[in-house]
Amino acid sequence: MRKLAFLLLSTALFLGCNLNSKKESVIEVDTNSNKKINEFAIIIHGGAGTILKKNMSDEKEAEYKTKLEEAIKVGHTILKNGGTSQEAVMKTIQVMEESPLFNAGKGAVFTHEETNELDASFMDGKTLNAGAVAGVKDVKSPIELAIKIMTDSDHVMLSGTGASNFAKEKGLEIVDPSYFYTENRFQSLQRIKNRAKTQLDHDDKKAAFYDADIKNSKFGTVGCVALDKYGNIAAGTSTGGMTNKRWGRIGDAPIIGSGTYANNKTCGVSSTGWGEYFIRSQVAYDISAQMEYQEKTLKEATKDVIQNKLTQLGGTGGVVALDKNGNMSFEFNTAGMYRASMNDKGELIVKIYKE
Ligand code: ASP
Repeated sequence: MRKLAFLLLSTALFLGCNLNSKKESVIEVDTNSNKKINEFAIIIHGGAGTILKKNMSDEKEAEYKTKLEEAIKVGHTILKNGGTSQEAVMKTIQVMEESPLFNAGKGAVFTHEETNELDASFMDGKTLNAGAVAGVKDVKSPIELAIKIMTDSDHVMLSGTGASNFAKEKGLEIVDPSYFYTENRFQSLQRIKNRAKTQLDHDDKKAAFYDADIKNSKFGTVGCVALDKYGNIAAGTSTGGMTNKRWGRIGDAPIIGSGTYANNKTCGVSSTGWGEYFIRSQVAYDISAQMEYQEKTLKEATKDVIQNKLTQLGGTGGVVALDKNGNMSFEFNTAGMYRASMNDKGELIVKIYKE
């Protein structure tokens, strides 16, 4: 009898402890995900890819870091002074669009036909409104045009000449296409074309030709996600696409749900990488959906989508993401990603390589 009582008591104690610890861990997770980490915050990328320390001079590295810092501080100041996440995202991206260092605006990569065709998108997490532009050749700031399409048209996405005409009607700055020219991007295109031609002469494999184009092209898209003091998340992405793209190829950057997504209920995301895979994986929306439907944290969701799902499909690249509580995440499966973040305390992180 005493043995039975002891057994019952110890079982009860054991169960009690276990239930308790389970309850605690649930509470811990809930508390975490509902705690405001930052009243406002901002995170950016300047592209992901085979960015290796051994291929980068100290000067180049410093140039990238300085520009990333300059860009993020523009957005951070706007947020700090009570500006909106929309304004912060636009102005931050514009600094990078105007820099020849990145594959967006000036410095965009070249198409097979030796032109620059620009894509961009923007999403507002409060209203779930969005705007996107694909294949424009003469609009100085594609991100500004994407926002204009959202605010001043009945549409979400405009392309090519029509998008340019809309930009002109709305008084956006139009530039001569030569504005986007940079010598090193032009030379990259020539190298890829030559390499592909040599490969074709040798083994005549059309697939290899296209593969070589894509795999060897340098990434360098820019993106930004911001949370303002009013709890609104905005996300934007701007790119020249991939070197040697042809036939009016459009990547993920202007596709809402792939290149860009924002929802005040969950998070905002901007992607960069091999666009075809990001479109097929619906990367940006999947991160938000995992948070909404599976109650994952931002880190868990970004990690699963990039390191598991995208990687298994064969896609390369990364994302920057920021949730409604100001948690931020950089996640990529490439050697590097130009990136920076800044929180409400003004703490700045600027990085290029994996750690
Ligand atoms: N995602 C872009 C595209 O596929 C390229 C990049 O991010 O660098 O067009």
